[in-house]
Amino acid sequence: MIGPILQRFARGENLTREDLCALLRVPVGSRDYYRLLSEANAYSRRAFDGKGLLFGQIGLDIQPCRINCKFCSLAADVLKDCVPVVRDLHSTAQLARELAESGAQDVFLMTTAEFSQERFLEYGRAVRSVLPDGVRLVANVGDFSEAYARRLRETGFTGIYHICRLGEGVDTGAAVETRLRTMDAVKAAGLELYYCVEPIGPEHTNEQLAEEMLRPRQYPVGVMAVMKRTAVPGTALAKRGEISAARLAQICAAATLAMRPKRAMCVHEPDELCLMAGANQLYAECGANPRDTEAETSKGRGFSAAEAQAILRKTEWELTE
Ligand code: SF4
Repeated sequence: MIGPILQRFARGENLTREDLCALLRVPVGSRDYYRLLSEANAYSRRAFDGKGLLFGQIGLDIQPCRINCKFCSLAADVLKDCVPVVRDLHSTAQLARELAESGAQDVFLMTTAEFSQERFLEYGRAVRSVLPDGVRLVANVGDFSEAYARRLRETGFTGIYHICRLGEGVDTGAAVETRLRTMDAVKAAGLELYYCVEPIGPEHTNEQLAEEMLRPRQYPVGVMAVMKRTAVPGTALAKRGEISAARLAQICAAATLAMRPKRAMCVHEPDELCLMAGANQLYAECGANPRDTEAETSKGRGFSAAEAQAILRKTEWELTE
């Protein structure tokens, strides 16, 4: 029975690792499963005042990435000796402007770990110059130092998407310590950190999931997220398959209760069940995408702004026009 855990959450207490594991052990479809989803949904409708949010992400480059994550279509082992393709600065700024005009409140620029840090700052400057003042600019890039974090901030970035992934150092070529150093740099530079429990596969234990739900409590995180691992054809982990939508909703609900996000709770990719289980924020995506084999993800897995907004409306999240 999870009643006492939900009561402690309602009293404002922080849930523990053991609490989260208990929530994650609840059988899908049971009465407790729906109580968990209901509690997370009630929290988010209240905390976010019924408002749904759209963010937009532009993937800048397709090139064999040395971090070689076993779930990524841009990993060196997948792309091998493919010729790098990098979106030009002008079209990136144009796309960013269109995303903002379509209602994206935060615009993310994403690269592989191969992208030049200096060049990325030029993209940041160009995009910042076309975004309305109220739109946040967020970097989703490889690891960096505190000095570079400060330069990102000076360039006009307001936040960074950076996480310690499930299976980091085993299923990826990045060390946990390196990821944590970058997150510490984000905090020290006064940037907002965007966190996500990802990429969730069927093999991840409740303890592993709980650990990543609790890690962001030490950082300035206003937007929390969950993302399942996509079984991308040609990647090493595709054979392990994917978790179900029902399980993702359970994880989404537990992560919402774990973090009590103040600004938004995201599910990636768009998912109606999660929008009834704590999530209120989706992404429109264009350009390169580690979960897609299409070079332009807006023609593949990526949702357009209109499609993501339609799902938010279907689940009765109000959109600010
Ligand atoms: S997920 Fe990111 S870091 Fe990992 S291989 Fe793909 S592009 Fe590189």
